Parts: sequence; structure tokens; C-alpha cells
Amino acid sequence: MISEEEARREILEKVSPLDERVVSLADAIDCFSGRDYFARLPLPAFDNSAMDGYAVVASSCKKGGRLRVIGEQPAGPDRNLRVSGGEAARIFTGAPVPQGADAIVMQEDVKRNDTEILLNVDVEAGEFVRRRGCDLAEGQMILRKGGRIQAGTIGLLASQGFADVIVGGKPSAAVISTGDELVQPGEELQPGQIYDSNSALLNALLKGCGVGDAVVENCRDDRQSLDNAIKRGIKNHVLIISGGVSVGEHDLVKEALCKAGAKIEIWRVAVKPGKPFLFGHVGECFVFGLPGNPVSAFVTFLQFVRPAILRMMGATNLDLSQVSAKLTVDLTNDGDRPHYIRGKLEHGKFTPIGRQESHALFGLSQANALLRVAVGEVLKAGRIVDVQIWD
Ligand code: AMP
Ligand code: MG
Repeated sequence: MISEEEARREILEKVSPLDERVVSLADAIDCFSGRDYFARLPLPAFDNSAMDGYAVVASSCKKGGRLRVIGEQPAGPDRNLRVSGGEAARIFTGAPVPQGADAIVMQEDVKRNDTEILLNVDVEAGEFVRRRGCDLAEGQMILRKGGRIQAGTIGLLASQGFADVIVGGKPSAAVISTGDELVQPGEELQPGQIYDSNSALLNALLKGCGVGDAVVENCRDDRQSLDNAIKRGIKNHVLIISGGVSVGEHDLVKEALCKAGAKIEIWRVAVKPGKPFLFGHVGECFVFGLPGNPVSAFVTFLQFVRPAILRMMGATNLDLSQVSAKLTVDLTNDGDRPHYIRGKLEHGKFTPIGRQESHALFGLSQANALLRVAVGEVLKAGRIVDVQIWD
């Protein structure tokens, strides 16, 4: 049995980024940038109005004063108006500020006659003008290689005129859930059977990493079915097998993988839950054997599978986000493996939730954070701890 740090190191040593590709912005969400991107344009690209109102020369304005309206500049092509002292140009949000003008007066602050406005306020230079480059300078870095592309990133890239983006590769993934007891949701249960929840859980976790839908299949606890399923599964970059990796007579996964030509690099890791975790590879395919207990599958996915997938996708940061929180209860780990406690992080406080056993799916469904309690660690209520979050 090896430590989880060793397991993670070994996995990440074996896995490398897939080939980069070019995708449209629409397809770039949750991908990782394949290069550094720099601003082609300043933002805003030109001085423009922050309000619907009038463009004026501030030094010629005074509360109670009158200005002659010399034209109109809507958002859109620059009409090349010129505003001098004593004049105003009707202007709208986002429209280029006419030459000579240095401030915008909100339309709510004037009274309009036919050709004139009466000012109800004093005006300061710069008011309601969005200056060219005040948000972003030309040449400024907007996206780092390996950075995750989120909705805001996509908006920024589009604002810079990028129609597509170079991103890391997208691994194809297969999930095989093993077990004679498993029935698919929607079907009828016989006594002794349970619904296969890991297929759906693992598929959702894969999607959360930015991998599309996995190829999911179910498999009985017999060698023939397993051999066939593995043969199909290893055509993908990643194969996740749920269940059957422990030490019972019905745990056939390790043997079947060896027969398929797999090199098993890791089997059994000092982590709770998740001890029977397995990692190996068959040709180009990386294989992860996760324990069947749903919470073990969840925890080992986040600790070992997720970082490997993110590395394949070209991510720089492979870690889950960490947040400081005040622990609300006493916690002790007197076992021999670090223990990931599922809990609720709310208003800066972390509270364990549900039964802390590896089958206890209800608690997991309520949890949004994991607290790792090291071997021998004694944590008192009130202590500030770092918890991992996955959303
Ligand atoms: P195993 O790792 O195959 O020994 O399974 C450990 C426990 O997890 C057993 O209680 C199984 O019934 C349960 N289990 C295995 N596979 C799944 C699955 N796909 N969905 C829900 N529970 C499962
Ligand atoms: Mg089983």
C-alpha cells in the first residue's frame, strides 16, 4: 500500500497532455488554453459614453446654464461630431465621445427644449466617460496557457475578436460498472439487487472536468463479460472501472486487466475511503479501478482521476480549490489512513454531514466540501482548517 501523495505523483508522472486543437469559442467552455493570449485591442477600444445623455465641454457648463444641441451620436459608426464650449451633442450609452467633449451629462439632469438643453447640475470633466483602455490595455495578458476557459474568459476573447481558441486535448472516457447486484435506474429491482449509481456519478464527475459524455457500460462479475468490456473500454484515453478491485473472490478486475496486457502501477492506496484504488495502463489507455462503494469512488475520482484528466487536457492547476473554514465539531483520526470527511461548507464554517462511511451516498449528496484529516490528527471545534471544494 502506498501513500496518496506517492500515488498521485506516480499517476501524474505517467500521464501527459494530449495534442492541442483549435475550437470555436462556443466549444471552448471548460477547456484549458493551449497558449498565452494577449489583448489585441484596449478595452474600451475608444472613449465612449456610460450613459444616455449629452456630450459637453465641462468647463463651459454650470448648473442653470444653457447649451445648444448640435447633433446626435448613437452607439455605432462615429459621426465625427465636434463639440465646442456652449454646445452639446445628444449621445447614447456606448457611443463614441465626439471630439472636443470631455464629459457626459445624464439626460435625467437636463431639461430639453427643441434645440437647447438646460443644465440642472454642475459638470466635471471626465464624468460618465469610459476612457479608452481603462479596463484593459493593448498587449495585456488575457489568458494564460493552461488556464481554464470560463464564461467570462469566452466573453473577453470574443471582445478581442477571437472566433476560436487553441485548447488542450479532450480525452475520451469509458466507464465500466461491475457487479452482479447492479440494475440500471428505470428498471425493476429484485431482492438483493441495487441500482447502479456509480455509472451516473462518474459520468457526472467526468463532465464536471470538461470531458464530454463517457461511454458507459455494465458488466457482470464474470471474466468473460469483463474481458469483453475491457477490450472495448481500452480504446479510449481513459477507462474507469467501478467495483471489483478489492480482494474478494468476485473482485476480478485486476486479473482481467493483466490478461488484457495492462501494466498495473498502483493497487491499494492509504486513503479513507478508497483503499482498493487501482491505476495502470494498457497501451495508450490509462485505467483507473475505483472501489464500488459510491463515496470511495467519488473521493478517489477527485483525488486521483481528476488531476490526471486535467493534465491530459493541458491544465496547469490540477488541485481542487481550497477554502479556509472554521470547523464546527471535534474530529480525530485514530485510523491508519488519512480520512476525507464529507461536509457542508457554509458561511465560512465546515460541518461534517451524514454518515462518514463509504456507502453513505445521502451525506455525500448534501456535501460540498472535503476535509482531509491526517493520521493521528486531533482537530478541535473552532479550529480554522482548509477544505477542498469541487464545484
Ligand atoms: P465492490 O467494490 O465491487 O466490492 O463493491 C463494494 C460495494 O459497493 C458493494 O456494496 C457494492 O454493492 C457497491 N457497488 C458496487 N458497484 C456499485 C455501483 N455501480 N453503484 C452503486 N453501488 C455499487
Ligand atoms: Mg462488486
